[in-house]
Parts: sequence; C-alpha cells; structure tokens
Amino acid sequence: MTPAHRRAVLVAGSANLDFVVRAAHVPAPGETVLGREFSTFPGGKGANQAVACAHAGGADTQMLLALGEDDFAKPIEASLLDAGVQLHTVRDAQLPTGTAFICLSDDAENAITVAPGANMALRAEHLPALEGIGWLLLQLETPLETVLAYAYAARAAGIKIALNAAPAQPLPEELLALLDVLIVNEGELAVVAGNPPDLATGLARVQVPCVIVTLGARGCLARVGDEILLQPAFRIAALDTTAAGDTFCGALVAALAHDTPLADALLTASAASALACTRLGAQSSIPTFTEVAALLSDCARRPGDDAHTALAAWCTL
Ligand code: ADP
Repeated sequence: MTPAHRRAVLVAGSANLDFVVRAAHVPAPGETVLGREFSTFPGGKGANQAVACAHAGGADTQMLLALGEDDFAKPIEASLLDAGVQLHTVRDAQLPTGTAFICLSDDAENAITVAPGANMALRAEHLPALEGIGWLLLQLETPLETVLAYAYAARAAGIKIALNAAPAQPLPEELLALLDVLIVNEGELAVVAGNPPDLATGLARVQVPCVIVTLGARGCLARVGDEILLQPAFRIAALDTTAAGDTFCGALVAALAHDTPLADALLTASAASALACTRLGAQSSIPTFTEVAALLSDCARRPGDDAHTALAAWCTL
C-alpha cells in the first residue's frame, strides 16, 4: 500500500452529550450559582476531535466510539455523520451514553464534570481494521489500558500516533514511547512531566519525538527533537473556549495526515481553534475547512512579529 492510501485519520475515544448552562461566574466549591440559558450540545474530546479533523481539517476521518442505547446517543451520532465522519460504534446496553455538565461563565471560563458512562466500555478488541489509516488520534477519556492497546496495535501496523493527554493524568513510559506526537496544555504538561519548574524542563523531560503545548490565548509551541517552533494565537473576541483544544488537535492531525509541514500545521490548527472560540458549544463551534482557509489567507489577521516576540519572551526559551 502506498502512503497516498494511508492518509485517513482514526480517532478512538469519547463521545458525550454536553449539558451547558451559562452563568455570571463558575461556582466555587459549595457555591450555588443561578444560571441563565441552557442547551445541549454533542461533545466529548474524541468526538470533538473527529469533527474537527473532518470538518475543519478536511481529512478522511473515522471514529471508534462507545454509546449507550438511549436518546442521548442520537444527537452525537448525527453530529459526527453530519461532519462526514465514518463511525465504528460499540453499543453498551448496560451503561448510559457519556454526559458532561458544563458551566460557562460570561468571561468565557468553564468548569466541566464528565459522567463517562459507555465511554468506559471501549476495549482493546473493539479496534476496527486499520487498513487505509495513516494516523491514530487518542485522548484520555476512555480507559488507559484501552488507549495503550490501541497505541500498540497502531505502532505494529506502522501508523503514526498522536495523543492529546487530556484530562490530565500521569502516563506510563511505555505509552509515551509509542507516540509520534503528544499534545498537552500547560496543566497537562505539568502532570505528564511531573511538575517541572518551567516549560523548557517540562518539554525536555517528555520522551516523545514531537511535543506540542497549547497556551490558550497566547498560542502554542512545539518541540521537535531540539528545535522549538512558536505559534502565537490569532487575535479574536472569545465567546466560548469549550473545545478549543479539541479543535486544535483535530485540525493539527488532519494537516499532518495531509503531509503538511509541522509549522504550517500549527498555524492551521491555531486558526481553526481561534474560530472555535468565537462560537458557542463544542462540535457546533468547529469551523469548516473553507472558513479556516479564509482566515489563513487573510494576512492582516495573522499574528505578526510582535506576537511572536511576546510569545517567545513569555516562554523564556
Ligand atoms: P485547552 O482547551 O485544551 O486547554 P487551550 O486553551 O490551550 O487548550 O487552547 C488550544 C488552542 O486554541 C490554543 O493553542 C490557541 O491556538 C487557541 N485558543 C484558545 N483560546 C484562544 C483565544 N482566547 N484566542 C485565540 N485562540 C485561542
């Protein structure tokens, strides 16, 4: 099989229905906040990333997911199919479809509690045939032993593996050793790298060929071998940053699956995730490939040299 036939992305991971309430601020422990508008949105890190990969990244995308036999599953499947994602669905009659309870504040902060339900039923034997897959994209909302089993299977099949280590948890060295790309935010890097004193130490400690750290509104940086790439964020008015990281991961891996050089893939992922911050919801906020291309081709809206200088100074690398 030639590389041209191996460009599809398989996302294996979680799918949830998000219950979102807007409020003036996110409640502190023990506090009750009277919220305002309420909506449900298809979400879950895996499903969000699959939609981003297909919809924003334009990649041929498949997803392995586990759902309950309940009504919560329906909008999730509809959203994925709508984005053009080919589904490998495991049905669990005992567990409910995964749900997430999100409080979204007026200053675009969020607090999220996930009830994983059927996502925890995803096991090694559910992995579909890997024929035609070029990249496997994983997260940590499914059992770690399953994530590890999928990574071993992908490595054996010569497939590139990207892991978004979210939600944060310490990772076994054997999993890190299987990865081509690790994507983390600052909090996740701290957990994976064992509370490093600074960013440079954190990046150096993680034994993965390419480590990407997203830095919210500042942008992101990547370490590839000894080289550091910086990509400042696009300047936008953020309304809801839910799924910013997921949009980044999906768009990034879609670009890599199209053999895009890493610096350009970081730029594309930054554009896609910035657009996602301007809209409400998780999958409903993910832009189309055309919208991402329009932002990328608008030189006036690209982060300039001053933004690069500011990011480099902040990173003190
Ligand atoms: P996570 O949601 O996983 O914590 P981040 O908050 O670091 O991830 O966001 C991921 C990416 O989304 C960032 O690297 C950046 O490119 C983009 N992003 C996030 N917040 C903003 C923002 N306020 N303005 C522009 N881009 C943003």
